[in-house]
Amino acid sequence: MPVLLGCIADDFTGATDLANNLVRAGMRVVQTMGVPSSALAGEVDAVVVALKSRTIDAAEAVAQSLAALQWLQAQGAQQIYFKYCSTFDSSPRGNIGPVTDALMAALGCDFTVATPAFPDNGRTVFKGYLFVGQVLLNESGMQNHPLTPMTDANLVRVLQAQTSHKVGLIDHTVVARGPGAIREQMLALRQEGVGVAVVDATSNDDLLRLGPALQGMALVTAGSGVAIGLPANFGIKPSQGASQLPVARGWAAVVSGSCSVATNQQVACFKAAGLPAFELDPLRLLDDQAGLVQQVLAWAAPRLPQGPVLVYSSAPADAVAQVQRRLGAAAAGSLVEQALASIAQGLVALGVQRLVVAGGETSGACVQALGISQLQIGPQIDPGVPWCYAAPQAAGGDLHLALKSGNFGAVDFFTKAFAVLA
Ligand code: ADP
Repeated sequence: MPVLLGCIADDFTGATDLANNLVRAGMRVVQTMGVPSSALAGEVDAVVVALKSRTIDAAEAVAQSLAALQWLQAQGAQQIYFKYCSTFDSSPRGNIGPVTDALMAALGCDFTVATPAFPDNGRTVFKGYLFVGQVLLNESGMQNHPLTPMTDANLVRVLQAQTSHKVGLIDHTVVARGPGAIREQMLALRQEGVGVAVVDATSNDDLLRLGPALQGMALVTAGSGVAIGLPANFGIKPSQGASQLPVARGWAAVVSGSCSVATNQQVACFKAAGLPAFELDPLRLLDDQAGLVQQVLAWAAPRLPQGPVLVYSSAPADAVAQVQRRLGAAAAGSLVEQALASIAQGLVALGVQRLVVAGGETSGACVQALGISQLQIGPQIDPGVPWCYAAPQAAGGDLHLALKSGNFGAVDFFTKAFAVLA
């Protein structure tokens, strides 16, 4: 059976977030780390190719996305889904616009939609404006993002600066009237020369009305939310079977390099429950990284049989800023990522087979260090974060993994995750 839906995601945890929504809507989904070098083994309904193309040079993001497209087409994908962040992370140079343009050209399509709406996580689009929770995107903290500051919540304007196509809007009044009205509006916009239409959605009901209107569209571009309405177009219904993973075994651990507000609260909650936690000091890594990694593993080894352990570099914004002043933001980031990735490797060597990783970049580093190239997607822990399964690796046994993007997850995520798996 060929793949029905072929997805290209611009980062790792975003890919998992999309895969999670597809599984919940009944699709069997595999996520690959980068573009695979061989054909897909096994039968699935959707594949999500996870790239790390959100903030790289636009030309390189286009090249990687086109390579992913080619591979997905070779697997028979009937519809292509370009997934970006629910906060529309991009700059006037891209990469959402340039990648959309390139995919449209390669697929020979003259019209697509764009909407980062993900109501389950508080991302809603109204009259083309993106809200994060109760506030506009540019008041949400995203205006201070180090790589992609989002200073305008008007998505039509933001996207128009990045794409060569004319950008239009399908607003909430049209969406409320259902798939037929959405299709009519698409036709009208096309006749006006619009190539990409931003679509309002403030609820899952809106996304479920949008879904049928996207049937047969060669390319869909969106956050993860739109995915809830697509599987039905292929005759697929939600089912328990889609999220079934092999039985989990082995010790449990959490590795956290995310410094987001939500993650800091999750670390505090884990510690408040009296569970074992090791705080990694980035400045100590400077002196002797290998030594500190060994110290962490020696600390963890006798504790693992009793239950989950946490190793974290997560820290509040002022502490992070202090480290960044000493080391530089990029150097501090990669130093900590490397150390946490070595620790994840060491924990797996100690027999950990259930691993939660907090942080997008941190997850990328850990998955890479563990040599994982493909993940099967399982049950949801919290919106946007499912358990995933990696078949036995050359280096050892199989592994259940949860990759948590910084601001996702309830405050008790680090214990709840293991309960969901049990
Ligand atoms: P999030 O998903 O919350 O953005 P990421 O893992 O993507 O988390 O990014 C966090 C970045 O901060 C990583 O590069 C990580 O190595 C770095 N980092 C983690 N802890 C610290 C710290 N204590 N000081 C400075 N940088 C840190």
